[in-house]
Amino acid sequence: MRDYCGIFGVYSVDGSVGPVIKKGLFHLQHRGQESAGIVTSHSGRFYKVKNFGLVAKALPDDVVTNLKGKIGIGHTRYSTAGDKDSFNNIQPICFFAYNKNIALAHNGNLTNVAYLKEKLIQEGRVFHSTSDSEVILHLYVKNLNLPVPERLREIEKEVQGAYSILILENDRLIAYRDRHGTRPLLMGKKGRDVAFASEEGALRINGFLEIKELSSGEAVIVENGVVSSVQIAEDERKNQCVFELIYFARPDGHVFGKSVYEFRKESGRLLARKENKEIDIVVPVPDSGVMAALGYSEESGVPVEFGFIRNHYVGRSFISPYDREEKVRMKLIPVRSVVEGKKIALVDDSIVRGTTSGKIIQLLRENGAKEVHMRIASPPVRYPCYFGIDIPTKEELIANGREIEEIEKEIGADSLVYLSLDDLYTLTSPREKDFCYACFRGDHIYTP
Ligand code: SF4
Repeated sequence: MRDYCGIFGVYSVDGSVGPVIKKGLFHLQHRGQESAGIVTSHSGRFYKVKNFGLVAKALPDDVVTNLKGKIGIGHTRYSTAGDKDSFNNIQPICFFAYNKNIALAHNGNLTNVAYLKEKLIQEGRVFHSTSDSEVILHLYVKNLNLPVPERLREIEKEVQGAYSILILENDRLIAYRDRHGTRPLLMGKKGRDVAFASEEGALRINGFLEIKELSSGEAVIVENGVVSSVQIAEDERKNQCVFELIYFARPDGHVFGKSVYEFRKESGRLLARKENKEIDIVVPVPDSGVMAALGYSEESGVPVEFGFIRNHYVGRSFISPYDREEKVRMKLIPVRSVVEGKKIALVDDSIVRGTTSGKIIQLLRENGAKEVHMRIASPPVRYPCYFGIDIPTKEELIANGREIEEIEKEIGADSLVYLSLDDLYTLTSPREKDFCYACFRGDHIYTP
């Protein structure tokens, strides 16, 4: 399972926001490694840099420091819609329309994009990319004659899906989180400077410590140094992605008002309460299972041990001629002295296809583990995601149409225990109704 996108925007009284945006994108890199881009504005004139690859490569320092302006937006991308190899799909996407420079950075995914695109083409609008994000930009531009809140309301009327967006229109910056609030969007303040980001870490690293999450349906507009908030839409149903808390978001921050670190640790405690096997050590799958393993250990009193060392030089964007098994072997190195002869609770955040879990269990057995009991800090993933996360088709999901015992056999575990949906509701309480659980329950608010 891979991630989707990170967005960052900033207005600074002192100007020179290029390096601030780059630093922010560095701290959103886990949300997308395919490409990155920055657009700044100086008196309505745009300065841009974008390219394929990681932030460090795509956004060279000498170019970034020369981006003029007090205001700008940036994006780091993993494609969940649109061709990943097309340069035109790299964000921010820029338009020049009605004598205005306009740029958009989008995190999320639209489900009615085919219909909207066809409609816009019929109206004579020309698409330059295959990204669903361009649909939002066309809808925005189409309504430029209206005040900003009305433009966003027009988008809300048309669009289905998930979208947290940043729009740069000449020297005006608009941040908007859609009415269902599927993806997070935060605002941070530092004196008179203001910034927006998908995650807290990107704000904190830049000194924006006064942080709040935009409400679903809330827009924040920054213009001439003045910050104003407008409620664009009342959400009839919130749809906050619970997987942000389970896996995607970085654990040093808060998402949807919850500490990601504590959420994951608590999920491990709940798992430990279900334990009915005799366990010698708890081993996390690095890095996704670490916090849950700590919680499991705290609750059960069973020591946590690092049975795997992660090779940090095999990155998440690792492209190679090797197959999945070889990649797992190159990335995770078992510590024989830790695992040999032990009954292990192996803790991970989720199982998607199951192939990686199977290889990890095999690695432990090859290194002398006596028993391997897989413990998963989320319920079985049985359905794909249509809201901006790359959970594969139903057929590829190991839990699709299989009982727990069958999955256990398939991955070669001595036993397998998942967190239950009720456990998940406990973790998201008291606002459990505000979350999306569709990859576990199949009740997507929209389908393509
Ligand atoms: S379907 Fe799953 S991954 Fe997708 S938004 Fe809902 S909870 Fe998140």
